[in-house]
Amino acid sequence: MVPGGRSGRPRTVPDPYPLLVPDPIEPDQTPVPIDTTRLTTEQVADIATQRAVQVPTRRATSEAMEQLLFQPVPVLDQGFVRVVDYMGDDHAIVQAARVSYGAGTRTVRSDAGLIDYLMRHQHTSPFEMCELKLHVKLPVFVARQWIRHRTASVNEYSGRYSEIADTFYDPAPDAIGRQSATNRQGSTGAVSAEVADAARTRWREDADCAYQHYRDLLDAGDEAVAREVARIGLPLSHYTEWYWKVDLHNLLRFLELRMDRHAQHEIRAYATAIGSIVAAWVPATWASFTAHRLDALRISGRARTVISAALEGQPLALGEAGLSTGEARELREALGLEPDA
Ligand SMILES: Cc1cc2nc3c(=O)[nH]c(=O)nc-3n(C[C@H](O)[C@H](O)[C@H](O)COP(=O)(O)OP(=O)(O)OC[C@H]3O[C@@H](n4cnc5c(N)ncnc54)[C@H](O)[C@@H]3O)c2cc1C
Repeated sequence: MVPGGRSGRPRTVPDPYPLLVPDPIEPDQTPVPIDTTRLTTEQVADIATQRAVQVPTRRATSEAMEQLLFQPVPVLDQGFVRVVDYMGDDHAIVQAARVSYGAGTRTVRSDAGLIDYLMRHQHTSPFEMCELKLHVKLPVFVARQWIRHRTASVNEYSGRYSEIADTFYDPAPDAIGRQSATNRQGSTGAVSAEVADAARTRWREDADCAYQHYRDLLDAGDEAVAREVARIGLPLSHYTEWYWKVDLHNLLRFLELRMDRHAQHEIRAYATAIGSIVAAWVPATWASFTAHRLDALRISGRARTVISAALEGQPLALGEAGLSTGEARELREALGLEPDA
């Protein structure tokens, strides 16, 4: 058995393109050390100022999130996610579901039971009562995938208004996969060290050259090209930043899709880092989400016929039940079985 399930649970088939899962963020592990290499001195000072302020509140707060507030959690070589604000906690979900007046007398255990019921039965609106606002630094090609999740509010750094920094994503060698033969959108395993080395050298040269051209256009005195157009030659690897606010229901949907092994390694790295924040923020919701969504399996009627037959001791070949080659492969993969010979 090897690790690699979406929630890190063991399975028999190795993930062909494994992700380095960051350590879960525990409330008592805080404060998270600030990685100053990916921030300017000014940004480090701003974060320290934000964290120095404490205000009394009547609102429900999460101890873990209070510890995490404003601290960048590193992702990839130069990116991060940091919690800028949040609203609600596990109990807010329960309160909304019961349309209750106050904290009530229910126990954490009964709250967890209700949350599990809501998650199992897709009673989703109580989860919309919690909100998370993140500041994210991410490469543009990741932003392009991320922005497809329309049920969030976004405000991005403006390359029209401000100059773009000389910050480009340089993938780790083992994050450079070979083109998959079965999934036209995906990769499988890492390329050799030589190929990875050559690829990184080329990308670095491309980025250096493109950035130098960008600077030349900006620094041309009276003939300086406007920032909004000077930037058009920059590669997809340059880093952008945005604020991203989303409710917990839509955030869980984002995590389900983007923590999945079929999502690209880089966006998975962000989703996994956010997952570790959500696990600390709403632990009961996270446990139910892991059980009923991340580790769950949705199968077709044809696949159900195959599984029922196997449980009845009358195994049926996947093809006999009408599964296409792709569906059969995906079912074996989802069940953690080796591919058919
Ligand atoms: C592995 C993977 C590969 C992908 N490949 C591609 C690709 O090649 N090309 C590409 O363009 N995209 C691609 N996508 C993006 C994908 O098609 C979705 O746009 C993206 O995952 C956002 O999902 P969503 O629409 O459910 O999320 P959201 O936009 O957050 O929407 C959440 C839910 O709200 C509802 N909703 C939102 N907007 C509308 C609407 N206008 N009308 C009706 N209901 C709405 C739907 O129920 C939707 O599921 C890929 C995504 C993944 C995970």
